[in-house]
Amino acid sequence: MDEARLSEYPFLTKAAEYVAGMDSTIDEILVSRGYGMARSRAKSRVIQAIKGEIKTEDMGLATPELLSYPIARILVSCIDDAFLIRRYALAEAKFANSRMGKEDDNILTEIGRDFNINASIIDKGFRIHFTDYIRGAAGMRALKWKLVNRRLESGYVNITKEQYARLLQEAVRVRISEALPLDVPDMFCQAMADDIKEIKTCLEEIKKEFDEEGFGQVEPGDFPPCIVHLLSSAQGGVNLAHSARFALTSFLLNIGLSVDQVVQMFNVSPDFNEEMTHYQVDHIAGSTGTSYKPPACTTMITYGNCYNKDEICRTIGHPLSYYRKKKKIQHEKLTGSNKPEGTIPKSTMPENSSVKSEDISNKG
Ligand code: SF4
Repeated sequence: MDEARLSEYPFLTKAAEYVAGMDSTIDEILVSRGYGMARSRAKSRVIQAIKGEIKTEDMGLATPELLSYPIARILVSCIDDAFLIRRYALAEAKFANSRMGKEDDNILTEIGRDFNINASIIDKGFRIHFTDYIRGAAGMRALKWKLVNRRLESGYVNITKEQYARLLQEAVRVRISEALPLDVPDMFCQAMADDIKEIKTCLEEIKKEFDEEGFGQVEPGDFPPCIVHLLSSAQGGVNLAHSARFALTSFLLNIGLSVDQVVQMFNVSPDFNEEMTHYQVDHIAGSTGTSYKPPACTTMITYGNCYNKDEICRTIGHPLSYYRKKKKIQHEKLTGSNKPEGTIPKSTMPENSSVKSEDISNKG
């Protein structure tokens, strides 16, 4: 792979070796004006990851794009926040996947080899050994990824190009997240203090948004009429349409119910399949890195999921706003206070990872 191609897959061993073989030292890369473009791209890489998606930026040169990856890893490591690491690793993996899906098959097999996945190109996709398949699909919960749902021939599994790219995406995510935070000297973090400050501000804003979705203790009496209708339908054994299930599930998760609690609410549905339901609820809860909000009222109306509108409905545009407002009204009625009831639960971020990297190379 040449430099341009390595800049598209900077997590590869060859990319790390290429960067390690460059003349410049890391000190120069972090402070020299000549590397300003790479540092700027590194910062935007991290900020875009926090916001959910790293976007392609055409800089006209491969070197800044390639260098922006190790610099971004330094920035993430200086901040050393588990939520950031998780979000960054997922965004980098998805960014790579957006390229891998359109990639030449030979390049994809080369990328696979870097992750010890030996794939051969077949007529409509790839053929990989079942042990590599299991390793790659371990983090994926959809039933279609289970080995029993694959055709096994002499120990090999045939998968489409898209599926192979998805396996590689997961391998990239694991490699990046497990290697962070790097053990970065303080002087490097100090050299990038302004960028770190900017990233931290962005990170805090996103975390605040997440925290604001906390609603305190769950109060079914304050649910909007649409959710009351969908919930009673589900518990009455009605087989809800997909859009209705999504609206109900995402609403309940967003107000604080656990995945297990939501799964149990569906266990009277005629087609209840615990494993499938658990997977779907888990997915909406964010097991793949994207958690979902319930649809706004306009979408609920479009899909025929808006039922029994009342007075409060006229003043809001979202079922979550309804719930928030009704809770506030009820609390004011009870206490005469205009403070909202309940504490805002803390964000449920996992504990910081203790995994350290021994170097600050690209790989991982
Ligand atoms: S207006 Fe909104 S909150 Fe009210 S019932 Fe319809 S969808 Fe639900």
